[in-house]
Formats: sequence, C-alpha cells, structure tokens
Amino acid sequence: MKTIRYLLVAILLAIAAICLSGCSHVQENNDVLFQTSTINALLEGVYDGDISFQELKQHGGFGLGTVNALDGEMVGLEGKFYQVKADGIAYPVDDSMKTPFAVVTFFEPDKSALLDESINKYEQLTGYLDNLLPTKNIFYAIKIEGVFEYIKTRSVPKQNKPYPPLVEAVKNQSTFEFHNVEGTMVGFRCPAYVEGVNVPGYHIHFITKDRKAGGHLLGCQMQNVTIEIDYTSDFYMVLPKSGEFYRVDLTNGKQKDLEKAER
Ligand code: ZN
Repeated sequence: MKTIRYLLVAILLAIAAICLSGCSHVQENNDVLFQTSTINALLEGVYDGDISFQELKQHGGFGLGTVNALDGEMVGLEGKFYQVKADGIAYPVDDSMKTPFAVVTFFEPDKSALLDESINKYEQLTGYLDNLLPTKNIFYAIKIEGVFEYIKTRSVPKQNKPYPPLVEAVKNQSTFEFHNVEGTMVGFRCPAYVEGVNVPGYHIHFITKDRKAGGHLLGCQMQNVTIEIDYTSDFYMVLPKSGEFYRVDLTNGKQKDLEKAER
C-alpha cells in the first residue's frame, strides 16, 4: 500500500515538473515583438494608452514608441526607458507612466555585422540593412552602435485635448542635429503586410551614449559602426481596453499620413 502511495506521489511530481518546464519554456521565448495599440490609432490622435512602463518592461527592454499625450519620442535600451521631449533632452521614464503606442522585445542578436561602406543618407542605410536580411517576411529588431558622423532626429511636443491627428501634431516638431556623436540606434523592421498595425519597413529611434539626447531618426551619415539584428518571428499585440481607441474609426488606410508623419 505504502509503495503504491509513493508511486502516486512520484507520478504527480513528474507531471508537475513537466508542466512547469513547459510553462517556463513559453516564458523563455524572447523572440517576440510586443506592441501596444496600432500605428493607425496613433495617426488618428489616440495619444493615451492604458499600459504602464512597469507592464511594458515585462515584454522587453529594447524598443521605441511614445508616452501618453504624445509627450516625446520614447527609446528603450538595456532595460531602461527614455523620453526625448520636444526640447531635445532625454528624460528617464517613470514606471508609472503610460504609453499609447510602443514596440518592444528582448534584444538577442542573431546576426552581427560591421558596416563596411560609408552611408550618407537614411535610404542608403535601410537598403544596406535589407541586404543583410534572410527574408522580408518576418520582424527584426535592429541595434546600431558606434560614433555617427551625422544624425538628424525629431521630437514632437506634448499634445492637449482634443488631440489633433499625428500629421497635425508633427507640424510643430523640433529637429535636432548631431555631429560625430556616440550613441545607439534602436529600431525595427516590420513586413509590408503590417500596414495599419505598425510601420511597414524601418522605424528607428536614436539615443546618445550619455543618454541625454536623441529622438526619432530622420537622417544619418556613418561608417564603421556595428549592426546587430534580432530575427523575430513571434508577434504579440495588446489593444487598449477602453477609451478613445474604442471610438476611433480605423477602417481607412492611412499610408500617406504615415509617410508624412514618420519621414
Ligand atoms: Zn518614431
């Protein structure tokens, strides 16, 4: 009788062990691109979200987006989040702050390369990166680090309600130029089929090495910088659970507005 009881306990323990290892296996998958809300909701002026940075951090410490009220460009790097406000200064983001649109992952590079040509403009960079990729049909997180000859970024001013659409808000953007600046580009490349959900193609933010400045990347010149690419084939999207997101009309394509707002 005792032997049977021991046997039962042993079987139960074995089942529990299998379940636990199964669950932790899921949690250990870091190749997930996590995003909150959709780019078209942002384009339509949905600038308040319900996900805090405390919560966002659980899904990765590498990423970009903005904070509530569209108060600047957000950069996440090495588990720390910054908000580059319209004054060009990068401020640390408090855990209690919230985001209306953010994209994050746990950055683990699958491919590294040293830039072996001189890049003189943004389109040349994206063309160079495209040539490093095995396919255009999955997501990529991209980290480029080094001393950049030239960087041009922008940030957007905090908006007041009723919020204008993003194309209106960016009319008051501030731009910043850096020369021979050390820092990191934090970016993503999404497949063309994400149109309406995220930014098809490249979306890159920048932060200086001293974490004091940065923004949404508009222009660049560089050579001899290191490029790291994280292949990301899992995509996980969480939508706002109330508020303006429920009321906004997301039935129309907004590709032209996106180009105006992001480039
Ligand atoms: Zn941006």
